[in-house]
Amino acid sequence: MNKFSICLDIGGTKVLGAIFNENQEIVFRLKKKTRVKEGIQNVEDTIVSVVSELLTGYGITMEDVEAIAAGAPGVINQDTGVVLFAPNLPWENYQIERILEARFGKPFYIGNDVNIGVYGEWKYGAARGLTNVVGLFIGTGMGGGLILDGRLYTGNDCKGAELGHMVLNMEGPRCNCGQRGCLEAFSSKIGMVNYIQQQIRKGRTTVMANAISDGVFKSKAMKAAYEANDPVMVEAIDRACKYLAVASGSLVNIFSPQMIVFGGGVMEALGDVFLAGILRYVDAYCLPSIRNSVVFSKAELNDDSILYGALALIHEKENK
Ligand SMILES: [Zn+2]
Repeated sequence: MNKFSICLDIGGTKVLGAIFNENQEIVFRLKKKTRVKEGIQNVEDTIVSVVSELLTGYGITMEDVEAIAAGAPGVINQDTGVVLFAPNLPWENYQIERILEARFGKPFYIGNDVNIGVYGEWKYGAARGLTNVVGLFIGTGMGGGLILDGRLYTGNDCKGAELGHMVLNMEGPRCNCGQRGCLEAFSSKIGMVNYIQQQIRKGRTTVMANAISDGVFKSKAMKAAYEANDPVMVEAIDRACKYLAVASGSLVNIFSPQMIVFGGGVMEALGDVFLAGILRYVDAYCLPSIRNSVVFSKAELNDDSILYGALALIHEKENK
């Protein structure tokens, strides 16, 4: 009886794994650090050891597993199972699906983490039952996902839906992608760090000065500074929300979605504040006739969006 699914959220620093039962409930989970600098074999071995520890920990064998699926950062062709490129992982033109299927002896599927996360929110979370959904995941960077006409839309070679790299100001701050003024450069953690550092250079003080390391801060520090009413953090958040509102307005006008769902680590930490901030500005950037039928919502599955999306990917692929 193959009744369990194994789902993975592969990141630049850790692999999160979960076993789902046939009622789509997570029955067992664990997390393991990856040592990305040690190269491709280390990441592959970490994935394999997460799966085997899940099996042992829950007391089942591979015989009980229907399939394994994962979301990971990067340009990933979901149809062929090849990672074209991944910014934080040692993968390039890497045939991960074929390699891991051989190691597991079970079907293995993979997709871009944010696409998969939005897919999870659509199948099991905030956007259940809708047919047109835009997802924005706000974390260190900014990812996007599109459900159009009841299907996950990923564009040619699954390279599309890079909503975080929508240029909002050609003279804006430099983005990691090489452009200037992308949504990510304003509204992600990287974008907020840009603003905070600019204010520090102007001689202002903020508790965030000590919280930034390697160009990023922890969500917990952002939340604490916001709650302590740190003026620079409050402004950085307000500015992030304003640019999210501008971007959301364009997305509303282009796609007329039923919902824009906001997820990611920043939303998990300060979702109500961000949602209220976006709603404060967004009407000015939407065509009123379209705005009326759009719901703006927080993600429901939070940290588990990608795991649930991977589960949905298994169902989609296995039921073909
Ligand atoms: Zn960019």
